[in-house]
Amino acid sequence: MNMKRKTKMKKSGLLVVVIILILFGGGIFYLSNQEDDGKFLLPKKEEKEITDFENLSLADAESYAKKKKYEIKTTYDYDENIEKDKIISGNLEDNVLNLVVSEGSIPIETFKEKKVNELGKVPIMMYHGIVNTTTNKYTGGNVDKDGYNRTSSAFAKDLEMYYEKGYRMIRLEDYINGVIDVELGYSPIILTFDDGNENNFKVTKKNEDGTFEFDPNSAIGVLEEFKKKHQDAKATATFFLNGGLCNQPQYNEDIVKWLVENGYDVGNHTISHVDFTKIGNEKTKEEVGKLYQKLDNIIPDKYVHIIALPFGSPYKKSHSNYPYIIEGEYNGYKYHSDAGLRVGWEPEVSPFNKDFDTSFLKRVRAYDNNGKEFDIQMTFNLLEKNRFISDGNKKLLTIPKSEEGKLKETELKLVKY
Ligand SMILES: [Zn+2]
Repeated sequence: MNMKRKTKMKKSGLLVVVIILILFGGGIFYLSNQEDDGKFLLPKKEEKEITDFENLSLADAESYAKKKKYEIKTTYDYDENIEKDKIISGNLEDNVLNLVVSEGSIPIETFKEKKVNELGKVPIMMYHGIVNTTTNKYTGGNVDKDGYNRTSSAFAKDLEMYYEKGYRMIRLEDYINGVIDVELGYSPIILTFDDGNENNFKVTKKNEDGTFEFDPNSAIGVLEEFKKKHQDAKATATFFLNGGLCNQPQYNEDIVKWLVENGYDVGNHTISHVDFTKIGNEKTKEEVGKLYQKLDNIIPDKYVHIIALPFGSPYKKSHSNYPYIIEGEYNGYKYHSDAGLRVGWEPEVSPFNKDFDTSFLKRVRAYDNNGKEFDIQMTFNLLEKNRFISDGNKKLLTIPKSEEGKLKETELKLVKY
């Protein structure tokens, strides 16, 4: 076949296609113009109603919902019999298609391998001052004899050590509410700071746009640096303040607002750092109520209803004024505390443990003592035997069978291995 002939045939073929298209198009045009009087309507193709969603793939269910103009809501669950990403069940309610999607069977072997134990212990670290010095004469990172204040570099190293060991910071408030959002195989850790020392959040400069800069060697400076370095982890802590708040009169309110807007929390450490065993009921209400009221005026609904007991006192919950630390009324202002923190010596139990008591929680002193007397090193060595290790799923509560006796009642799906 020569080229000319080939071109001619192509042209005539094209012509036929064009004619067919014109005729067909005209027909459609004719029919669609007849709709007004109801004659000659083309039957519309109806999408078949689905009533049983089990084993349908999520992708198919989504395209079905799209055709039917249903809104779709998915939740996930484990199922031994339904493959991953297929539907376990579905129902339609007011044009919303609610689907439960399978995550496959529970990965028991992985849980065993990672030693998941959601009844393990959780360290609530207690810090006070963070001091920028390299000439401290005390043990390790201690700045004073008892190690209540810590050097900035020791604090930065603590954060790295926690991270390396697989601990991830969570909010104290979440722990109290039994929400432990940590990836599979990782452990929660909680940071607290008492006394509102200036060196916790020292402002070095207020910018023209209203933002400010923190001393990089302050607790916030170190935490923010950690946050930049480890984008896969959170940096958070709860700061327990006294009447002097952040001890920087010109910035106090700004700092408190900044903290709660940037992933940190603020709680109550009493107005005058009072020893509760030395005061009566009325004074107790004033010390606790006034501080909550102060926070309410600056950051309403954004502070945590948690009190850290100054000096860790009283040592017993049976102390006569303890009920007023938790709940009371001062000058017509009502307050309550969801939790009370002691000056403890060891990690606390899991929020799923039947002995979990938010009103009297122990903390770990963040200090050095050559691996003795519950210092940081000793605490983290001991934790290797019984640390909380997450299954990475907020709906499951996974524990080794040997821990079962410690369990409190739970609405979560219990997984034992
Ligand atoms: Zn204190």
